[in-house]
Formats: sequence, C-alpha cells, structure tokens
Amino acid sequence: MSKPPVTDPRRRIPRTDTLLALPAVSDARVRLGDTAIRDIIRQAQDSARRGDTPPEDVERIVVESVSGSYASSSRPVLNATGVVVHTNLGRAPLSAAALDAVIAASGYVDVELDLETGTRSKRGAATREALLRACPAAGDALMVNNGAAALVLATTALAAGRAVVISRGEMIEIGAGFRLTELIASTGARLHEVGTTNRTHARDYAEALAADDVGAILKVHPSNFRVEGFTSETSLSQLRELARERGVPIVADIGSGLLRPDPLLPDEPDASTTLDAGADLVIASGDKLLGGPQAGLVLGDAPLVQRLAKHPLARAVRADKLALAAMEATVGGPRPPVSEYLHADSGSLRERAESLGAAVGFPVVAHDGRVGGGGAPGVPLPGWAVRLPVSAAQRLRLGDPAVLPRVHDDACLVDVRCIPEADDARLLGAIRQALSES
Ligand SMILES: *Cc1c(COP(=O)(O)O)cnc(C)c1O
Repeated sequence: MSKPPVTDPRRRIPRTDTLLALPAVSDARVRLGDTAIRDIIRQAQDSARRGDTPPEDVERIVVESVSGSYASSSRPVLNATGVVVHTNLGRAPLSAAALDAVIAASGYVDVELDLETGTRSKRGAATREALLRACPAAGDALMVNNGAAALVLATTALAAGRAVVISRGEMIEIGAGFRLTELIASTGARLHEVGTTNRTHARDYAEALAADDVGAILKVHPSNFRVEGFTSETSLSQLRELARERGVPIVADIGSGLLRPDPLLPDEPDASTTLDAGADLVIASGDKLLGGPQAGLVLGDAPLVQRLAKHPLARAVRADKLALAAMEATVGGPRPPVSEYLHADSGSLRERAESLGAAVGFPVVAHDGRVGGGGAPGVPLPGWAVRLPVSAAQRLRLGDPAVLPRVHDDACLVDVRCIPEADDARLLGAIRQALSES
C-alpha cells in the first residue's frame, strides 16, 4: 500500500506502539495476553482505515474493548429462573470452598505426590477418602469425567462382548438426544432388553440371566419423567438374590448424585440407600444434586471398583485435578449452593423478592422453582418472583451483570431462589438498568 498523503485522515490513526503504551492497554496485557491485545488494536485501526470510524475514536475504542475483554469469553450469569440445576448455565455452581480448592489446584499441586516421602501417590486419593466418608455404604470410590463416562467405563469393564440386561421401562433419553442405550451399545456390550415400558418383573430378569451371557444388570433411574398407573418395577432387593446366584453384578445409574436421602425429594434415589438395597455399583453425576464439579462417580463393591479403575479406558475418562479438588471440597466441606437453593426458606425468598419488587415498582408473584438437570420432574419448589414486562428479558440477559430470567405467560419473571443473597444489590442494579432502557 502506498503512503497516504499528508492530508489523508488515515495519517491521524494512532500507531500500534502508542496504543500499546496506554495505561489501560498495558494493564490489560496480563489479563488478555499480547496476541488478543494486538488483535483488538488492529481491528480498531482497520475500521478507521476503512473510514468506518473516525481516527480520533480509535484510542477510545481500544481502551473500551480491552477493558471489557477477558481471556475467556465465559460470562457469569445471575440465575433468576428458579431452576436449581440449570443445564444451560453449567449445572451446579461451586461453593466458595470448592472454588478455593480449584484455585489451589490450578498450579503445581500434589495430586499424585506424597510430600512426606517425595514419591508418587495415588491420583485423587483425598477425594476418594472424602467420598467414602460421605457414603460409608461404599467399599470403594472412583471419580471420572462425567456420569456418561462412568457408565461407559462400567459397561465396558464388566460386559464388553457380553450382555447388559436392562428393563424397557428404563431405556431413557437424558437430554440433547443423549440416549443411554446407544451409549451402552457403543461400548461393545449387547443390550438384552427385558419387560415392557410400564412393567418389568423379577422373572423377566431371571429368564434373561438363564438364557444369555450376562456381564451386568443395569438399573437406571428414569430421572426426567414418571410412569404412572399400571406399573411395576423390579426392586433391587428382588434382584439381589437372583444376581448373586448367577454371580452377575448390579449397576445402578442414579443420575442425580445424592449420596444420602433428602427428605425434600423422597422419590430421588441416593447412593447409600441404593447400595444398601443391593446394588453392587452406583453411578452418579457430580454436578447435579450433589452440587459439585462435572464428574462421574462410581461407588460400591471394592473389587468391582478396582476392576473399573484398572481398565485401560479409565485413563481416557479420568477426572482432572481441578475437578478432583472441587469434589473433595464439595463432599467434605460446607453445604454447596445447590443444596442451599433447594432448601431455601420460602418466607425469606418472599421477603427478598418483595424488597426488590418494591424498589422497582413491580409486583411479586408466587413462582415455583424446579430441581432441573432432569431431576425430580414432579417436584415444585414454592418460591417468589418479581413480575416485569417481557421486554425486560433480553435487556437483563445482555446487562451487567447478565441475568437470566424466566419468560412465561408473556412476562419476565425474576426468581430469587438461585441468586446468592449477597448479589441482591447487583440484581437490583441490573433490573433498574434493564427497565430504564425501555
Ligand atoms: C444425567 C444422567 C446421566 C449422565 O450424566 P452426565 O454427568 O451428564 O454425563 C446418566 N444417567 C442418568 C440417569 C442421568 O440422570
């Protein structure tokens, strides 16, 4: 490109060096890195070269862009939907203790080192111990990448080339087209379906065990729907004898990850009760009702857990150090946000919603929250929401902080259940901002 003439406005575009030297830009270097900063500068200069922005604006645009940018584009969102385990918002928010653990584990960390002897130690040993303390019914515990990975590992290690017996009433699709049965079939285990959608009897399992080369019986909690009416499910205690006789392990996928029963959710299975009832292995997610990081947990019979842990596939699905640290702090530390939000007192939710509503001049309505994450579909969580005009919804989502309300019945509902009380002032600011723009 030939040099522009002296009168050309492009000569007034600030040089890269000048822009890099601006205090706001050099401060942002630690946060964003050189490449991202130079990209921002180049874009602003290019825009001025094309004549899309005046050269005088380049400096301001660069400063604004670097100030609002982070190396990660993830934006924290205030969850005003009342849905506790919100899949689109990353399921469970971590507790402050789990966050501290993640930060501590983010550098070099003794994840596979015994500091006393200076020799290698078992990866995730502290997390395993925390899980066993929280679920004494389990003889051993293994954490992997997620619930699906735990299921793949279990079926591969126990039943590759053999049959997995499953009731037709438990052949579920979890979400986003994820079908459990397709996942199992992909591991090289054969599905041996028994019973019907609404009724499966002990004799159905007995026939399958007698007729086929069975590697495992799989019981799956149909977490996201309920079958009502003329139904019959074979319980674990019924299956236990049958399976023992044949030496076939029972694997129970409980989904949600409760380690102990929760009186608020009487129909939700938990690992302790499921193991006591006769499951040899329990599989669960870490980031649903357990309230921890993304993880898959395998709990139960020690030799079986070891069989899974020693399978070559275990390496491909192993948990990362950040998740191991967060899990230890979740099961051994203070109660995680998921549990707090689930058990939030309806009276204090109402007070918070009313003070927000009064501050912005909009009514408060009764609003049921939900467990979410495909869990406890029939259980409403009575709570309260501020009812705003529907036009506020997108402004709230795009605001600072970003707020995700529930759009329902042509209204924008702001439910306070899943918002930390400490964030009420920020929430109020975001609502005021969204309403002022209308
Ligand atoms: C959620 C769920 C899974 C999958 O767990 P991820 O952690 O999402 O991989 C498997 N089985 C059941 C019953 C579930 O509810």
